[in-house]
Amino acid sequence: MRINRLILIVFVCMFISGCEQNGYNKSQGSTELQTKTIFAMDTAMQFQIYTSRSDIIDLLENEIKHLDRLFDRGNSESDIYLINNTSAPITVADDTATVINTALEISSQTDGAFDISIAPIMDAWGFYTHDYVIPDTSVIDELIKNVNYHEISLNANTVCTPDNMMLDLGGIAKGFAADKLVKIIEDNDINSGIISLGGNIAAIGSKPDGSQWSVAIQDPFNSDKYIGAVSVADKAVVTSGAYQRYFESGGNIYHHIIDPHTGYPADNDIASVTIISDNGTTADALSTALFVMGMDNAADYYRKHQSFDAVFITKENEIYITPGLKNSFKSENTFSVIE
Ligand code: AMP
Ligand code: MG
Repeated sequence: MRINRLILIVFVCMFISGCEQNGYNKSQGSTELQTKTIFAMDTAMQFQIYTSRSDIIDLLENEIKHLDRLFDRGNSESDIYLINNTSAPITVADDTATVINTALEISSQTDGAFDISIAPIMDAWGFYTHDYVIPDTSVIDELIKNVNYHEISLNANTVCTPDNMMLDLGGIAKGFAADKLVKIIEDNDINSGIISLGGNIAAIGSKPDGSQWSVAIQDPFNSDKYIGAVSVADKAVVTSGAYQRYFESGGNIYHHIIDPHTGYPADNDIASVTIISDNGTTADALSTALFVMGMDNAADYYRKHQSFDAVFITKENEIYITPGLKNSFKSENTFSVIE
């Protein structure tokens, strides 16, 4: 078996002119480009912020560490560890309650395609330990009885779950973290920057020259290529793709986005989903959920809600965009607009 995990630093370098070294500050008129790459939440994170404030990167890093301590399933003091390993109700931090609340809303809107109680299934496939196995059907059948977001109760900051249930915020935590970092950046009167938390990009304002940020969307079938780019200002751009984390066995690929109704990696016509939205938390949850739902159901979800834009790439290599991207999506490939 082989694990292939993409580190997304290269991705960020594609759409920002010049890839800076850690801590390198490049003068841009009255402001400077502050950059840093860190590893947290099991992924590479890159910050590129235009400001003369030299302490901003430290503020961002501290916030990520704070959230990682709340959400990390492996940290015996984290909220999620306590929920997963204690029978009694747990009082969690405001941030944890907010993430769980949004997760439950998206679960309900997507008929359970998004479900943070997926943790036991992730473990059975070895995605938590990176020790990959194909579980027996009987194991999946047993574990999936514990996957049911309806049984997560959240009252103010008190979380109650059945004994065998375990939560995993991996499908939403980075989007929430991106929103929190954007708030810190804006509260410090900074209006230009871009952050990448794994596949979660947040564009703050526009580039220093006033033009929009161009965020490249990876070709799911070729890690060296991009299928196009979206021009954005003040948006989250979040991609979920089978190529981001997977292992191979017997010529088959098993990836990390699980269909909570089957316990197996979602297997439909979608190869990747990119959500473009004002809200990074819902963008993150939705990219995962719409990937699970497949093209027809995802397009129906868009038509019903229309609170975001999206780029879908199918396994047939077709590209579909939502109407809001007609002027901002650029690609050398042909693409269709969802009506
Ligand atoms: P993303 O990369 O944002 O699509 O999220 C994938 C991660 O979310 C996985 O690594 C798991 O931690 C978790 N996950 C996988 N499948 C689901 C699902 N159907 N609903 C919620 N979280 C999921
Ligand atoms: Mg997600």
